[in-house]
Amino acid sequence: MTAPDRPPHYLAADRLRERLIDALEPIAVQTPEGTAPKFGEALYVTHFLVNQAFDCPARASIEEPFSWRPALAARTITFAALPTTLPAGQPLDPPEVLVREALREAMADPDPFGFNDEFQNAPKAVRAHYALVATAFMARLFNAIPDPVPVDLQLGPSRHKEWTFPDRYLRVRTRPDFTTNARFGKDTDQRCVWIMAGARGPHTRRAAAFEAVATTAASGSQPDRVAVVSTSAGLIDSYTIDDDFLQEGIDAAVVAATAAIAGWNDAIDTLERRPGLFTCQGCVEQPLCAPYAEWEATPLLTRGGLPRL
Ligand code: SF4
Repeated sequence: MTAPDRPPHYLAADRLRERLIDALEPIAVQTPEGTAPKFGEALYVTHFLVNQAFDCPARASIEEPFSWRPALAARTITFAALPTTLPAGQPLDPPEVLVREALREAMADPDPFGFNDEFQNAPKAVRAHYALVATAFMARLFNAIPDPVPVDLQLGPSRHKEWTFPDRYLRVRTRPDFTTNARFGKDTDQRCVWIMAGARGPHTRRAAAFEAVATTAASGSQPDRVAVVSTSAGLIDSYTIDDDFLQEGIDAAVVAATAAIAGWNDAIDTLERRPGLFTCQGCVEQPLCAPYAEWEATPLLTRGGLPRL
């Protein structure tokens, strides 16, 4: 198909990729040439990194050792427990039934959920905690989906997971929680991409804009809409994806990638530090971080936020 014949949603994705290349080029040229041979070797721009870069850019530059946190474990278990597609009209099994079944199968699997043996060797109480958080996560997910579902849904991560900057160790990753499959094809892309978030706030629109960019770049087709389910408030914000909205997502990706590349270049001190109660929890920089020390020494009534527990 020649370029003029290409449907608008593919052309829009082509343009988006060109804009991403322009915006990320100053960062990409600081990464090695070629395609990262192993998982984890590239500089990844993710939803998590975007949020962290806006909380505290310095912390976003630190590559912290990977460990399973309950929230991540819950997400992983949830999507292992769910069917990958849910046809319209099909009723949902209760979350606790799906999670229990997934965990039972996991105990017999040599590599359950990609946890390696971490899950099987974890203390019983830890496994129970993961199961509890996964059940709660899935219950929130189901609250956002009418039962039975009115349209076909693809649940869990998309098979289009990431876009790679041409010939560089730089990738932009998606993280949709579910996607309407309706009319995603040669002539039209009417997908709505859904992501789950915690509290609703200033990050909600930015998270949606970043996901719009990541999904469009990775799938090569611009979806119609992106929606954010704020699980603590039970609210749904839905955004039409257009050029202006995509620009917000590109800007967010650049902020995150700038923080990450500073970390690669051992240039954390060029970045702002923004202390906060939740932001600083578990940060390895804490013992040496002057802004954190100053924040911690500030009387509670003047520093804002919640008291330390
Ligand atoms: S301790 Fe807090 S302010 Fe300092 S780098 Fe870590 S997250 Fe940022």
